[in-house]
Amino acid sequence: MTAQPVIRGQGPGVVTRFAPSPTGRLHLGHAFSAIRAHDWARGRGGSFLLRIEDIDGTRSRREHVEAILADLAWLGLSWDSEVVFQSARLDRYAAALDQLKAMGLVYPCFCTRADIAAASLTAPHGAEAVYPGTCRGIDTTGRIHEPHCWRLDAGAAAAVAGPLNWWDETAGTVAADAASHGDVVLARKDAPASYHLAVTVDDAAQGVSDVIRGVDLFAATHVHRLLQALLGLPTPRYRHHPLLTGADGERLAKRHGAPTLAAMRLAGEDGRALADALRQGRLPTGFMASAH
Ligand code: GLU
Repeated sequence: MTAQPVIRGQGPGVVTRFAPSPTGRLHLGHAFSAIRAHDWARGRGGSFLLRIEDIDGTRSRREHVEAILADLAWLGLSWDSEVVFQSARLDRYAAALDQLKAMGLVYPCFCTRADIAAASLTAPHGAEAVYPGTCRGIDTTGRIHEPHCWRLDAGAAAAVAGPLNWWDETAGTVAADAASHGDVVLARKDAPASYHLAVTVDDAAQGVSDVIRGVDLFAATHVHRLLQALLGLPTPRYRHHPLLTGADGERLAKRHGAPTLAAMRLAGEDGRALADALRQGRLPTGFMASAH
């Protein structure tokens, strides 16, 4: 596979991105996030980039990608540079994993899919169960051809990296605490990358200066900060924002029947008017912004 060139924003310094996974239709919460990232860059003469996080080949769909592009245009958002697809950058993630292998900071894990699913360790969102380290230090002789993922030896990695900080708009300077997240998956059984590895490599490759995303990914930033240090990558500023929820406080991503942007678009609603309402904090009836 040919390596893609480094893609940097055109503006003087500020580069933001919207990085949806094309595993479903976008909802109002995605619009809220994309508008914030877009406006932060546009208001500062910077660049707004679009990255499609489609490493999960089994759940990603081309039709969702098409809907995402149409939804963003409907909201009146434009992006700079070509759209980046993570599925075209697997060689980059494999190279980063090799770097960590050479440092002795990752190990193969043979735990079953059911174990991993139970611990929900590959999902970017939500409370992550901590992997108990079952496969850390086991003898893998003769087993390496069995299906396995690769995990970060977080304790060893944190010791190598030493104390680390990152900055968040709301929380201020945060001491990175990646070890408490346990040995996260960096390469899956079915893909040479996990969310954590791909997002870290790509934010650096795209020159992202300000990561603007939901507060549900705040905890993941501890892991990303550690990976940045290990891989010698720069650390962006982080601006984690509140999530939109239904009136019952439940996150839109978890709700059944939350209206999708595509449905509103196809029903003839005015996307630019919706975007302006969201900018002004006027949420449609039945929605709230929650800081948790
Ligand atoms: N792809 C992730 C998602 O759709 C977002 C990743 C990020 O913004 O860091 O939730």
